[in-house]
Amino acid sequence: MKVQVDRIRPEGLTVQEQADPQKLDLNTDIAGFKSPLQVEARLQRVNDVVNASLTVRGRLSMKCCRCLSEFIVEVDKDFSVDYPLEKGARTIDLDPDIRDYIMLEYPLKPLCKESCKGLCPGCGADLNTVAKCNCD
Ligand SMILES: [Zn+2]
Ligand SMILES: [Zn+2]
Repeated sequence: MKVQVDRIRPEGLTVQEQADPQKLDLNTDIAGFKSPLQVEARLQRVNDVVNASLTVRGRLSMKCCRCLSEFIVEVDKDFSVDYPLEKGARTIDLDPDIRDYIMLEYPLKPLCKESCKGLCPGCGADLNTVAKCNCD
């Protein structure tokens, strides 16, 4: 999301936008978004600083590191960033910060649930769905 500085009125400015996860470079091997993210930014300018208060929502798909099944986590994140304006700056680009804050939501080892039993190392059966596999 890019915002033109001169659109920010003294009473502030609210911008809503759909953000493309591909453009934000949010898709990794273990997690990613298959649909656009909803971004709302409330901007306020005080002298040479723009404060952006953001809400980002989306459906994060992840792959469980134990059983390899896909699951979805609803992301709903609020954060606020200050942008000091350089002389003559006409736009501010919120995308790098949106990306950084959303990436913080990515776990190192995604789990569909804490108690996920994973796959049997012997036969690959999903031990969450079979009571007992044929190994042993
Ligand atoms: Zn799992
Ligand atoms: Zn087995």
